[in-house]
Amino acid sequence: MKGSDWFWARRLAVNETRLLRRHGRAVMALALLHGVLTLVFWQLGLMHGRFLYFGVLLLALLIWSGGYAWLVGSGRTLRRREPSLSLVMSLGLTLIFLATAFPLDEGRICALLLFYPLLLLVSFRLGARSLLALVLSASLGYVVMLALALLAHGVRLNPTLELLQWLIFTLVGLSFALTGGGVNSLRRSLAVKNRALADALEKVRDLAIRDDLTGLFNRRHIMEVLSHQKALADHQTYPFAVCYVDLDHFKGINDAFGHGWGDQVLRLFAEHTQGNLREGDYMARMGGEEFILVLSQSDLEGAVRVAERLRQSWAERRFDHTGGPRNVSLSAGVACYQRGETIDQLLARADHALYLAKTSGRNRICREQVTG
Ligand code: GH3
Ligand code: MG
Ligand code: MG
Repeated sequence: MKGSDWFWARRLAVNETRLLRRHGRAVMALALLHGVLTLVFWQLGLMHGRFLYFGVLLLALLIWSGGYAWLVGSGRTLRRREPSLSLVMSLGLTLIFLATAFPLDEGRICALLLFYPLLLLVSFRLGARSLLALVLSASLGYVVMLALALLAHGVRLNPTLELLQWLIFTLVGLSFALTGGGVNSLRRSLAVKNRALADALEKVRDLAIRDDLTGLFNRRHIMEVLSHQKALADHQTYPFAVCYVDLDHFKGINDAFGHGWGDQVLRLFAEHTQGNLREGDYMARMGGEEFILVLSQSDLEGAVRVAERLRQSWAERRFDHTGGPRNVSLSAGVACYQRGETIDQLLARADHALYLAKTSGRNRICREQVTG
C-alpha cells in the first residue's frame, strides 16, 4: 500500500471534529432560516410587541447559534460524553422558537415548524430518551407560552384550534423522537465499527512498515523515506546522509551463544539506536544484522559524527553479565546525497564505505570516497 492509499484508507474513520464542525454549521443555517422567518412575520405585521423585542430575539438567535458553532467547532467539547451538547443547544433554540411564537396572534405554529428539522438534526446525536425529553419540554413550553400570551396581550384564543395545534405539535414531535432514536442507535453502532476499522488499519499499516524482530522500519518503508528525502533535497537543497551499519562478527555470536542470543543482540541494538536518534532521523533493518540510518538535514561531517558516537556508545555496552558476549562492535559506511543521483547509487556508495570499514579492521566508521 502506498502512502496516498493509507491517506484515503484513514478517511474511512470518522473524524469527530469535522462532524462537529458540520453540526455547528447546520445549527447556524437553521438559526438563519428562523431569523428570516421572524423578519417575514415582522414585515407582515403579525407580531405584537416593540422593535426592541424583535431585535433581542434576533440577537439571541445569533449569539446562541454562533456561540454554539464556535464552541463545538473549536474542539473544546471533545472530551465530554456527548461532545455536540445537542440537548442544551436544542433547548435554547426551542426557547427562542417559542419566544418568536409568543407575540403572534395567528399562525403561531408556523414559528415552531423549524423545531422538526432541529429534531432531525439532533437525532444523529441524541438517544431516544433525550429526544423524548426535548419534545416534552417543548410541548410544556408551548402551554406556558400560550398562557403567557393570554395574560400579556389578552389574545383571544380559539380553544379548540389551539388545543388541536398543540396536540399536533406534540404528536409529530413524539413520532420524530421515536424514529430519531432508531437513527441514533444505528449511527452509534456504525461509529463503533468505524473506530474498530480505523484501529485495524493502523495495526496493518504498522505491520507493513515495521520489522518483526526489532520493531524498526523495514527495507520497503525506508526506501519510501529515502525517495521522500531525495525529493526534499532536490527541491529545497538541504542535504541528507545515510549510514550503512553492519554488526561485526555476528555469525560468531550466533555460533558461540546461540541464535536466541543473536536475536536479543539485534533487539538491544535497535533499542540502543532509537534512544539516540534525533527527531526526523530514521533507522531501519535492511535484513540480517544490517541496518541503515537516514539522517535528514545532515551533511557528511555531521553524519560521520553521529555514526562515530553510535559506534562508541554501542561498543561500550556489555552483555557478559547476562550470559552474552562481552560486547559487540559495529562498522559503518557513511555517504551524503549528491543532487541528481539515484537512491541505489547513494546506497552503493555507503555500502562501499562500509566495505572499506570492514576490510580496514572493523569497529570503525568510513566515509564515502568522493571521485570528482
Ligand atoms: P562481518 O563482521 O564481516 O560482518 O561478519 P558477520 O559474521 O557479521 O557477517 P556474515 O554476513 O558472515 O554473517 C551474518 C550472520 O548474521 C549470518 C546469519 O546467520 C546471521 N543472521 C542473519 N539474520 C539473523 C537473525 O535474524 N537472527 C540471528 N540471530 N542471526 C541472524
Ligand atoms: Mg552482514
Ligand atoms: Mg556483520
